[in-house]
Amino acid sequence: MQTLTIARFEDLALAQPIQRAVAEEGYTTPTPIQQQAIPHLLEGRDLLGCAQTGTGKTAAFALPILHRLGLAHKKPTPRHTRVLVLVPTRELAVQVHDSFRVYGKHLHIKTAVVYGGVGQGTQVRSLQTGVDILVATPGRLLDLIDQGYLRLDTLEVFVLDEADRMLDMGFIQPIRQVIEMLPPRRHNLFFSATMPPPIQKLAGSMLVNPVRVEVTPVASTVEIIDQSVMYVEHDRKRDLLVKLFQDKSLSRVIVFTRTKHGANRVAEMLDKSGTPADAIHGNKSQSARQRALENFRVGKIRALVATDLAARGIDVDGVTHVINFEIPNESESYVHRIGRTARAGASGKAISLCDDEERAYMKDIERLINKKIRVDESQPYHSDRIANLTNTPRPAPARKGGGGHGHARGKNHPRSSNGRAGSGSSGNRSSRNLGRRR
Ligand code: AMP
Repeated sequence: MQTLTIARFEDLALAQPIQRAVAEEGYTTPTPIQQQAIPHLLEGRDLLGCAQTGTGKTAAFALPILHRLGLAHKKPTPRHTRVLVLVPTRELAVQVHDSFRVYGKHLHIKTAVVYGGVGQGTQVRSLQTGVDILVATPGRLLDLIDQGYLRLDTLEVFVLDEADRMLDMGFIQPIRQVIEMLPPRRHNLFFSATMPPPIQKLAGSMLVNPVRVEVTPVASTVEIIDQSVMYVEHDRKRDLLVKLFQDKSLSRVIVFTRTKHGANRVAEMLDKSGTPADAIHGNKSQSARQRALENFRVGKIRALVATDLAARGIDVDGVTHVINFEIPNESESYVHRIGRTARAGASGKAISLCDDEERAYMKDIERLINKKIRVDESQPYHSDRIANLTNTPRPAPARKGGGGHGHARGKNHPRSSNGRAGSGSSGNRSSRNLGRRR
C-alpha cells in the first residue's frame, strides 16, 4: 500500500502571526516531527522527541511555544524568563535563538541568548528587564544565576535540546542543578538524537506522562539500504542517468539535485529521453507539487526530481531507488535522502553519481555513516581517475546555489557538535554522533 501524507501548516491551528512567519520562510509542509509533535505541544503535553538535527525539530518546539506565549502575553518580569531552552553549544544557542526570532517576528516576544566564551555585559543587560524566551548553554546560565541576574522560579516551559550531546560533553551535573531550580509545575520538552539508558533516566526524571515522538531511526535505515556510488565525469552524468533508467526495476525513483534549476533540467531531460518525470521544489505552486506527487504515487511518472527541502515531509511508500544526481555537501542530507527508500522494512537502493568535485563530500558521507559505500565499476561511464582521487579540496558549498529556503541557518554552515573553535570537518563531527547509534 502506498501512503502519502502531506499535512499543511494551516491544519496545525497555530496563531496567524506564526503561520505568516512560517509562510514567509517558504515552508509549506510541516516535517514529520512537526506534524507529530506540534498538536501535542499545543495541548500542553510533555514531550520526549527522538530526532536529530535536520529534521525540523527546532520549529517543532519553537512554533507551539510561540503560540502559547502569543496567546497569553504578559509583560516580562525583570530578571525572569517564561521559557528556557537549554542547548549544548554556543552555535546551537545562536541558531535556536535566531529561529525563535524568525518564527516570532510578528509577535511581541522578547528573547535573549546567553553562552560562554564571550563577555557577559550584553547578556546581563538583556536579562535585566526580563525576557519571554531565553536560549542558553548550561555553564553561562548557572554563572548568571549565581550572580543574581536571573531566577527560574516562575518558568513555564523548559526545553532540553540535544540531551545526548549534553551528556557527552559532561553537562549532566549542571543540567540537574538547573532542573532543581525549576518550579514543579511546568511544561517539559526533551529532545535527543539517541536514547541510551542514561538519557532515558534523565528524561524519566524530568517528564510527566510524556508523548513520545520519533522520526526515522537513521542508522537502522542506512543499514538496510543497498548503497552504491558511481564515479563519473561531470559531463557524463546525464547519459549515465538515462542509462540507469533502462533498468525497469527502477520503477519509483526519487532523483535528488542540489538546486531547483537542476531539478527542472534533470526532469525535462528524463522526460525527453522517454522516462516520465516531474520536478518538485520550492518554486512550484502547492497545487503543482501536489499533482507531481500524486502522479508519482500512482505510477504515472517514474522519476520525481527533488531538492532536499522539497522532499521533506513527503511520505511515499514503495520508492524503489533514490538516486543522488548531485552529492549533498551536508552529509546528514545524504542519510535523509536515502531514507526515502526502504521504508517500513521494504528493501531499497541508493545510487550516488559522484564527479571529481564531489569526491570530498562522498568521503564525508562515508565517515558519517561509518561505512565504505560499494563502488559500482560495472557501469559504462566508470572513472578510475575519480575513484582514486585523494585529498581533493572541498569545493565552496555555494557553488551550485542552495536548493531551498531556510533562514539564517544557512545550509552551508553545518553545526559543530562541540562548540569549540576549529571543530573539524562536518564528517568528523557527524561520525561521532552517528557512531554511537550503531
Ligand atoms: P532543524 O532540524 O531544526 O535543524 O531544521 C533544519 C532546517 O530545516 C532549518 O534550516 C529550517 O529552516 C528548515 N525547516 C524546518 N522546518 C521546515 C519546513 N517545514 N519546511 C522547510 N524547511 C524547514
